[in-house]
Amino acid sequence: MQNLVTFSIHTLGCKLNFSESSDIARRLEEVGFGRSECPDFLLVNSCAVTAVAEKKVRNLVAHLHRELPDARIVVLGCYAALRPQEILKWPGVVATFGNNDKLNVIPFMQNAALPAAPPFFAAFSSSDRTRSFLKIQDGCDYHCTYCTVWKARGESRSDTIPHVLEEIRRIVSMGMKEVNLTGVNLGDFGRHDGHGFGELLEAIEAEGLEVRIRISSIEPNLLTEDIIQLAARSRIIMPHFHIPLQSPCNRVLGLMHRRYTREFFAEKVRRVKEAMPHACIAMDVIAGFPTETESEFEEGLQFLEQLPASYFHVFTYSRRPATPAAEMDGQVPPAVKKIRTNRLIELSDRKKWDFYRSQIGKVRPVLWESELKNKMMCGFTDNYVKLKTKYDASRVNLVQDIEIKEDMFDLRSE
Ligand code: SF4
Repeated sequence: MQNLVTFSIHTLGCKLNFSESSDIARRLEEVGFGRSECPDFLLVNSCAVTAVAEKKVRNLVAHLHRELPDARIVVLGCYAALRPQEILKWPGVVATFGNNDKLNVIPFMQNAALPAAPPFFAAFSSSDRTRSFLKIQDGCDYHCTYCTVWKARGESRSDTIPHVLEEIRRIVSMGMKEVNLTGVNLGDFGRHDGHGFGELLEAIEAEGLEVRIRISSIEPNLLTEDIIQLAARSRIIMPHFHIPLQSPCNRVLGLMHRRYTREFFAEKVRRVKEAMPHACIAMDVIAGFPTETESEFEEGLQFLEQLPASYFHVFTYSRRPATPAAEMDGQVPPAVKKIRTNRLIELSDRKKWDFYRSQIGKVRPVLWESELKNKMMCGFTDNYVKLKTKYDASRVNLVQDIEIKEDMFDLRSE
């Protein structure tokens, strides 16, 4: 099996169940599954000898689902034989196998865990009158140690440049003014076909369309100097970058299997700001990755303080099933993770406010969107400052040059 898919097995009831569980576990290991406390599959070999025994099964399954909400639960044994339909309604349960077909759990898991290599399928959203999210890439080959997305989405694959252009023309013809290019690892676009994300952006630029293009998120090592320079001279690529840092500590970045150091990251941010001083730069940061120490966190916070980033998306580290990070020693206690998360959010709020204030008095193009509560409407500048103004139906879906004033800020969400 290419990427180890993992399981754990929980047994209730009689000795027969215990011996069968042991046999199933051995067979699963023989066909390539691994054991883990934080697995992809949770097997519960159940008992239904009494009402109390049944209650124990229900409680165990509920507890496992609470602890590991992403794991797929399979219930085996007597309870499964008696009431499979009832069990299939329990949250997290994906299959049941009674006593006579317990061993069928093995081919079931093999089929369910086949490495994903689905074809790329294109998609764009059109529920919003003004903006569309256009998927141009899917999957990821990076395998960061905390992440399950690459397992769920499979290998990196992309749309073609001609088809992306066709989709953008279609979106524009529907009257939408902004296209947000999205993907799991967007900067990896076209790598398997010998093309690149920069090449796609050049091709979009050359179309000469009346549209605003946003880059949803791009890995720092894939944000090339060519892309920065193109964005700086472009009429349509918005000066707004979302670059995942994940940790301001090089040791932790190494454990995460990220492909850069914090110094490399800081240099990227500096290059973007040099080319586009007005650019908005958002970053992802994970709080409380396993082994992150207090002093590393404090020192990292100071590093982030110095970075000319506009705000952070802060994530509290959570153990994802069957990821290397979930198995690491040195898991950070939940209360500590919460404190670190809040400190990062505080810093992000401060940075965002500073960034917003730095834009007061500037004239920037705003795409007005829909109605807000209290008869207000909102819109984003090219550099992603969110503004509000009195609702006026005739301005919805218009791009207008607006002089930014402090009382126009809408800081409730990004
Ligand atoms: S975190 Fe991002 S880059 Fe890393 S494996 Fe997951 S999807 Fe890929």
